[in-house]
Amino acid sequence: MKIHEYQSKKLLNEFGVPVPKSTIATDKETLLENFRDFQSKAVLKVQVHAGGRGKAGGVKLVDNSQDAVEFADKFFGNLFQTFQTGDESVVVNKILVEEASIIVSEMYLALLVDGSNQSINIIASPEGGTDIEEVASKNPEKIFSLPVNTILGPTDFHVREILDFLNLDKTLFSQLNKIIRGLYKLYIDKDCSLIEINPLILNDNNEIIALDAKITFDEDALFRNKDISELRDLSQENEVEIKTAELGIKYVQLKGSVGCIVNGAGLAMATMDVIQSAGLSPANFLDIGGGADEDKVSKAMSAVLSDGNVKIVLVNLFGGILRCDVAARGFILALKDSDGTPPKLIIRMQGTNSEEGKRILSNTKYNISFAENLDQISQILSSEE
Ligand code: GDP
Ligand code: MN
Repeated sequence: MKIHEYQSKKLLNEFGVPVPKSTIATDKETLLENFRDFQSKAVLKVQVHAGGRGKAGGVKLVDNSQDAVEFADKFFGNLFQTFQTGDESVVVNKILVEEASIIVSEMYLALLVDGSNQSINIIASPEGGTDIEEVASKNPEKIFSLPVNTILGPTDFHVREILDFLNLDKTLFSQLNKIIRGLYKLYIDKDCSLIEINPLILNDNNEIIALDAKITFDEDALFRNKDISELRDLSQENEVEIKTAELGIKYVQLKGSVGCIVNGAGLAMATMDVIQSAGLSPANFLDIGGGADEDKVSKAMSAVLSDGNVKIVLVNLFGGILRCDVAARGFILALKDSDGTPPKLIIRMQGTNSEEGKRILSNTKYNISFAENLDQISQILSSEE
């Protein structure tokens, strides 16, 4: 789960990591009031669940009320795109008004899980800022990844290594030490999956400050972090993903043209591989999940059909507790409900009552190709390409 920068900074502050003074505004009037409280000089930052705001004009140093009004009018209630949101866009409901910092150097500091190493890694770079992606691809030697022993946590030794790599003076040890230990404690205490500070700056007062903050949390641990789950902002999330999650369907929106409906996460992954190897791309990941009935199956199909990019729907079901005839009726329900011409369907159903399921679907007007196995799915998909 993602949260906003202003929420992340509040957490950082609670864990002893310095952040600039700021207030959050949800309308123009509050924004202007807050702006005047900073003597009419502040950085205005749109709050959306995506980075790359600086390059897209969503972060601006403003020193007069007129520009502040202009910024508010331009963004409040409107959709915003960055290179990270791609073709999608997100709505701006909040703008952070923050005391402007004078930057001496912009660095990068992050914590994430390194699965292959079974550790939490601290990632650091002396070249933080809005071009970090470019630094990572062109100058990977400028990115330092330091695994931390999960039992011992970060030690003075780690801090010294990072201090050195960031080209910071030795006198800054205690500041960086407090930041790294604070970030690590936050990471563990709140079950984070990523903490990214970009940029971490050194200001003109020789202070190290988190100027931006992005934190994501492990959703499987939210049950024990009620304070964190309350920070969720549904306005920033994909509508279909929210709806399907409520039904217990695991759905992840992707960008391809082949919608998939599968039961079982492993089979869903394998199905996506088949699509990819046939030269096409999946429009989504979908695992119907356990205890599916006609209604749930129908809602899964409706979710896939609601995606305008879907040209083909691929069903790959293994009937067990969910009988194939029940699934077939669910599909028809959704197809009847959908507007426009339904896309081509490729259906593979195996297991309980699969013959009955196929018979039900054959007796319809829909354009359906049946497959018995993954090879046949692949052949049909290749012929569609
Ligand atoms: P992002 O583009 O979404 O990652 O947004 P950031 O919060 O990282 O801001 C982008 C860039 O704006 C930073 O890398 C800084 O260069 C600049 N910036 C943000 N806040 C300040 C500030 O207080 N003072 C100055 N001089 N620059 C700032
Ligand atoms: Mn940033």
